[in-house]
Amino acid sequence: MSKQGNALEDPRSKYPKPPFERQFQPFPGLAHKMNPVPDHGEETYVGSNRLKGRKALITGGDSGIGRAAAIAYAREGADVVISYLPEEQSDADQVLEHMRKAGVKAFGIPGDLREESFCKELIEQAVEKLDGLDILVNNAGHQKSNESILDISTEAFDRTMKTNVYAPFWLIKSALPHLKPGSSIIGLSSVQAYDPSEDLYDYAQTKAATTSYVKSLAKQLGPKGIRVNGVAPGPVWTALEISGGQTQENIEVFGQDTAFERPGQPAELASIFVQLAANDASFATGQIYGSAGGSGQP
Ligand code: NAD
Ligand code: MG
Repeated sequence: MSKQGNALEDPRSKYPKPPFERQFQPFPGLAHKMNPVPDHGEETYVGSNRLKGRKALITGGDSGIGRAAAIAYAREGADVVISYLPEEQSDADQVLEHMRKAGVKAFGIPGDLREESFCKELIEQAVEKLDGLDILVNNAGHQKSNESILDISTEAFDRTMKTNVYAPFWLIKSALPHLKPGSSIIGLSSVQAYDPSEDLYDYAQTKAATTSYVKSLAKQLGPKGIRVNGVAPGPVWTALEISGGQTQENIEVFGQDTAFERPGQPAELASIFVQLAANDASFATGQIYGSAGGSGQP
């Protein structure tokens, strides 16, 4: 829901369109330094207690899609922990302020998810701070455009795999003993899982892996009453894209090939995360929810 209530909003003209100014920030990038600054729903998302009393951990909740989910969760009444990299503290501080203004408990825990020990510690700390855990959003991700497979070093390949595939594995294993029936796990897939770009050789396969882990775990954890779903965005205007995720040529025309001729904004995905975590989605498990502005998936 937006500030305008139920007034019709034209999806074509609602948000900025390309051409965008070329802009590069060193990884991981800061949302508040982007031009235009992405919309995470700060001024618009209105909650209605759909997640009142719930306890959520969102990795990479400082910026982008994770930040939009964090703001929405807080305004729906959930207590939330976000994780992020230490160099993203300034983005994280902004989200934490928005969440606290919603009147819920909000905590930030910085650290590198490529370390199994940090993943375990993050879950333990989240459980302690929230007095439990019932929503885990594995949103953090790394994407680096490379023209050729020959340009991808073993270290770079390892960063993509550790962040996008290993971290969710370690986080879910640590979280599982705490998740009661009714809990929800959400993974971040992508259109890249279905229609991989030539320059995203390593990233695309991690998103296919995410789609598969969601579908496998949904079957495994269904009998325990835990739902597992995924979100598959198309092009969304976030720091990941301007910090190496796309070439500068692609940034200029980012989102132009969607039906609305523009990229999505993180705020446009927030309600999907709310829906997937909420009790009324109780028959949704093993599903991948697309939000890609008209391109073909899933
Ligand atoms: P983003 O850069 O705003 O968020 C990604 C976050 O991942 C960062 O803020 C950072 O905190 C975290 N992260 C990265 N490496 C980390 C590490 N080693 N340790 C801890 N945290 C780390 O970008 P976003 O686009 O909002 O990305 C969120 C998710 O959405 C990712 O999984 C991404 O693959 C997925 N996705 C994005 C798009 C898009 O167009 N933006 C499309 C499809 C899928
Ligand atoms: Mg960030």
